[in-house]
Amino acid sequence: MSTVNPVSPASATPSEAAGARPVARQVLCHFQGRFVPLAEAKVGVMTHAFLYGTAVFEGIRAYWNPEQGQLFGLKLREHYERMRRSCRVLLMDLPGTPDELVALTAELLRRNGFREDAYIRPTAYKSTETIGVRLHKLEHEFVLFCLPFGDYVDTTHGIRAGSVSWRRSPDDAIPARGKIVGAYVNSAFAKTEAQLNGYDEAIVLTADGHVSEGSAENVFVVRDGLLITPPVTDDILEGITRAGLIELAKRELGLTVVERRIDRSELYVADEVFFSGTGAQVAPVIEIDHRPVGDGQIGPLSRRIRDLYFDVVRGRVPAYADWLTPIY
Ligand code: PMP
Repeated sequence: MSTVNPVSPASATPSEAAGARPVARQVLCHFQGRFVPLAEAKVGVMTHAFLYGTAVFEGIRAYWNPEQGQLFGLKLREHYERMRRSCRVLLMDLPGTPDELVALTAELLRRNGFREDAYIRPTAYKSTETIGVRLHKLEHEFVLFCLPFGDYVDTTHGIRAGSVSWRRSPDDAIPARGKIVGAYVNSAFAKTEAQLNGYDEAIVLTADGHVSEGSAENVFVVRDGLLITPPVTDDILEGITRAGLIELAKRELGLTVVERRIDRSELYVADEVFFSGTGAQVAPVIEIDHRPVGDGQIGPLSRRIRDLYFDVVRGRVPAYADWLTPIY
């Protein structure tokens, strides 16, 4: 596998370092050890990851703060640490340490000169071009790209969710804690069933019928002032937003957070429900399976935690500066 070139400050031109947009609006990515235009980053049709889904990825956000003229990478180190864990599950390793990959990500964002919110997608994939399903005795590669990005689901009006008939892949089939590309077919089944049934997002249950998560979000429930979320052993992705919100809820809102199994019917009697995720951010849910959540409006705790989260990720709360990597 190609390794990450150490990123030296000299590799950015002065205009790139100052955050100027490249003149030609061509997005650059980092592919097989080099910065190349996204349109040139191609893999062959026999690539193992393409044939069998044998790859792991991360979804990361960077937030633009117009007052400070700064772009902040959110929890970059945590994402690369999780990616390293996902790689272990799939018998791979990353081309550098989490810190080196954070530096590479910052460099790529600078080279692209983004002055707007961005989405960052690193993927480590089994790159050998061969037939034969397995995890061992295969080469692997790394690709990193980023794009300008807005909301993934609505965060302002409240969304409608539906529980779906597809169950979350259990840990002994495809572990949800590894962010495995092939496992996202399970998410795709769930999201499509929910949307074709008229909902915005899916609630996916574990094989034994407990609430696991959304198609690409963790889920939180408020009952009698307690904030409750499924445990990491209920086939969820161990969400980085989930961990951040647990910290904010305890430290800033003084809430008690309980990680325990959640019955489906608890969603119907909850005071509030919201999704969390890098893409979804904090997305309040106002209806589930045709039942209003609480009084059918965004609840007060969901509103507070969502607003606080947006302030933190945009660099407006100094106490949480350590969540952020300034890019410029
Ligand atoms: N669950 C799944 C299945 C996801 O794809 C995501 C998005 N990465 C999440 C939960 C939320 O995780 P995070 O907060 O780390 O983005």
